[in-house]
Amino acid sequence: MFIYVLSRRKLIITFLLLIITIGLFSLSQHMLSIPSLVRTPGTYYMSHTQEKVVALTFDDGPDPIDTPDVLNILKAKKVRATFFVLGKAAQENPYLLKRLINEGHEIGNHSFTHNYPQSKFMVEMSQTDQVVFEATGSHTYFYRPPRGLVTKTQLETIKQNGHIVALWSVDSKDWRNPGVKQIVDNVMRDVFPGAIILMHDGGYQRSQTVKSLGTILDSLQNLGYRFVTLSELKSLDSEMK
Ligand SMILES: [Zn+2]
Repeated sequence: MFIYVLSRRKLIITFLLLIITIGLFSLSQHMLSIPSLVRTPGTYYMSHTQEKVVALTFDDGPDPIDTPDVLNILKAKKVRATFFVLGKAAQENPYLLKRLINEGHEIGNHSFTHNYPQSKFMVEMSQTDQVVFEATGSHTYFYRPPRGLVTKTQLETIKQNGHIVALWSVDSKDWRNPGVKQIVDNVMRDVFPGAIILMHDGGYQRSQTVKSLGTILDSLQNLGYRFVTLSELKSLDSEMK
């Protein structure tokens, strides 16, 4: 009986240890994939600078309704940003790519469809680069993987393809549509000199993003921040000079 109890207890302990190990492993994998929690090594997510400068980035566009609204606000406030476009959306709205370039913004690559088997990620990246090149005459340099997920092997392949993986350091969480005030608060709470701010101008209805943008720009400007494109932000990085 005693032996039975002991082995049963051992079994339970072993089982618990196994659960804890699996839990810790999946947590570490999860954290690796969320750049706002863990800064993934080998990616570009901020600039080391004392200057009050930030880069606004917009993902998942261009969208025929929300992108023009975002662009009108940026134009009125004389702010330039970086747009991580989806090749498919860009192909359907090439005039918006031209407008982005004409108004001084930078275009980054955010895959072709946003939803693809991992084996296709290079194909998707090249397709989007081609669409951008055909519309603007320029190739993309920064690549932002959908949801910020990237493996070490992919990082290396992307680098060899002449791109840099750009993530972010401040998540507005506008993708959740949490309300205009919350989007503003998320940015203002986490902002710092050299930050890359994540927002969205496509992929879903983005009226909350549009409504929060003016307040975010005014609030950051009141704190003394100026806005630059990702390439400009990178050139200000003291650790990359
Ligand atoms: Zn996205």
